[in-house]
Amino acid sequence: MKITTWNINGIRTFRCGIKKTLDALGADIICVQETKVTRDLLDERSAIVDGYNSYFSFSRGRSGYSGVATYCKDSATPFAAEEGLTGLLTNHEGAVGCYGNHSAFTDEELQLLDNEGRAIITQHKVKCSDSIQTVTVINVYCPRADPEKPERKQFKLQFYKLLQSRAETLLKKGSHVIVLGDVNTSHRPIDHCDPSEIDDFEDNPGRKWLNSFLRDEKVSESTPEFLQDGQFVDTFRFFHPTRTGAFTCWSTLTGARQTNYGTRIDYIFANDQLAKEQFAEVDIMPEVEGSDHCPVWGALRCSLLPSSKPPPLSTCYLPEFAGKQQKLSRFLVKVEQKPRDPLPGSQDEGERRENINTLDTKRILNIDSAVQKSKKAKTVKTSSKQQGNLLAFFKPKNEKHLGLSEVGAQQKSSKAPPNQDGLLKQDGSGLVQEVSSQIHSSTQDEQQRTQTSNPHGSKGASLVFWKSVLHGPPPPPACKVHGEPCVLRTVKKEGPNMGRQFFVCARPQGHSTNKEARCNFFAWVDRGK
Ligand code: ZN
Repeated sequence: MKITTWNINGIRTFRCGIKKTLDALGADIICVQETKVTRDLLDERSAIVDGYNSYFSFSRGRSGYSGVATYCKDSATPFAAEEGLTGLLTNHEGAVGCYGNHSAFTDEELQLLDNEGRAIITQHKVKCSDSIQTVTVINVYCPRADPEKPERKQFKLQFYKLLQSRAETLLKKGSHVIVLGDVNTSHRPIDHCDPSEIDDFEDNPGRKWLNSFLRDEKVSESTPEFLQDGQFVDTFRFFHPTRTGAFTCWSTLTGARQTNYGTRIDYIFANDQLAKEQFAEVDIMPEVEGSDHCPVWGALRCSLLPSSKPPPLSTCYLPEFAGKQQKLSRFLVKVEQKPRDPLPGSQDEGERRENINTLDTKRILNIDSAVQKSKKAKTVKTSSKQQGNLLAFFKPKNEKHLGLSEVGAQQKSSKAPPNQDGLLKQDGSGLVQEVSSQIHSSTQDEQQRTQTSNPHGSKGASLVFWKSVLHGPPPPPACKVHGEPCVLRTVKKEGPNMGRQFFVCARPQGHSTNKEARCNFFAWVDRGK
């Protein structure tokens, strides 16, 4: 049995074909977080995937925010499934149950904790050697504590406590339990690219909670077992206790993935016995792009026994999809649909990200070609069409006919890091700002114009013309350390500097000792020019 977790940062990550992506991940149970799909946005393509049954949790508040989903292969159909941790959202048969003691929470708190679409629980039967056992899979997207919203810190800790209570109750009632997803806290210094930059690293309440939830293998070797508070094992660390640089999340805002300046906040936790007796291997997949997180997978020795039909929470019973058959025509139709408009952003700036960047495209192309190699004619037919479109997006196809080679050259010389997004939290001078990268957006504009321009040409030529007529941005200075052209950014945060422009080193963010990473060059663009 193989299980995978991935914060996909929007279901659009699957836009090359959700079935192909799921198949390429190759797991029986695939848990995704931050779908940004709310009930109003759920479409048939995301909900009904041939060969899988799926379970969604939706934010009840904002549209296009948060959300988790679990996709199970038909050979891994769960026996029970439910949304949320509290049981308050469950008014149907086939729920998982074992809610635990909620006396530490008010009714209102419980309601709010399950209001943001952060948990899906599926319950499976597995065959371990000769016995049939139950494994409950809790797919979570734990809240992120926004430093500017102190009330969210408390919310995050309450979510952790509720999660722990549910997981431990299920365990106590005799099920194995896997808790996996985006936990939004790195555990140890080894799980963080620059722990010395964090004030009171060990005192962070999220880390303290992880210490209480998890067993500490190092402690257990030299100290009596009663010191091991937690009942769960961080399975990646169990298999790779000393591996450094094993990160699952990088800021796309600063291009930090290029220097592996990241954190490990996506986990597969399992109860001690399951981790030690059934898990065969766990690893991260940093090579898989398309999101600011990478997938994490775990392989277990036990094999899944599917239920004969999906439990009532399955999306196949939703009224708008019920009774529809799996048809080949669905695959053939979907490539002709226009991509959905960008979904509304997350609730705060720190979570806002660009979804279209070159990493996405690379990722899609990788998956496309990998899947194509292993697929037969019917899917090749659709995917080759998609790949053609993506290539057109990625680079100008008809350069020589269009006179667009100049545009291509400008793109190359801009030196903007490929995943430089429109936002940045901090610059080298210690100013904390939210800014937009004009270089990035103009590059993207050029790509889009290139993609949409008439193959016989006048638009491409007029682009070059207009670029020569209109004033472009001021020429960039060179940064002091690398001597390379800087990127121009604009302060977007409200305040006295809003709208002002400045230059910073164009390189991706990295550790302060990494000479290849962004230097601390910073210069305002003079006003009045
Ligand atoms: Zn530099």
